[in-house]
Amino acid sequence: MRETAFQKQCLDWIKDNYRGRLLAVNIHGGGYSNKGFPDILVFGDQKAVAVELKADSGYKVQPDQIIWRRRFKAVGTPHYVIDDFDTFVEVMTKEFDLHEDQERSTQKGRQGRLQARRG
Ligand SMILES: [Mg+2]
Repeated sequence: MRETAFQKQCLDWIKDNYRGRLLAVNIHGGGYSNKGFPDILVFGDQKAVAVELKADSGYKVQPDQIIWRRRFKAVGTPHYVIDDFDTFVEVMTKEFDLHEDQERSTQKGRQGRLQARRG
């Protein structure tokens, strides 16, 4: 998958599931000072998480991206390098404590199935 498609998948997931709770911003590189800046910043729950996306093309983390990773970590902001959608979901769930919602949606699904079975 190309990185732009991967990025869209991640942003759409947040928009579709967590509108009003999480805010995701994708950063378009431009200007020397932003070189290596992570692809997505996600805000919510009084914190920010930085995400560098890697499409599965074998493309490696660049030195300037590692510098930004160090800068984020130095100020106590999580920075992840993520190369697949499931990991993105896992990380967001952990960082923003979304387990509750997942449980709720699973329960809803279960109730729905039970109701469907009951007719
Ligand atoms: Mg990237």
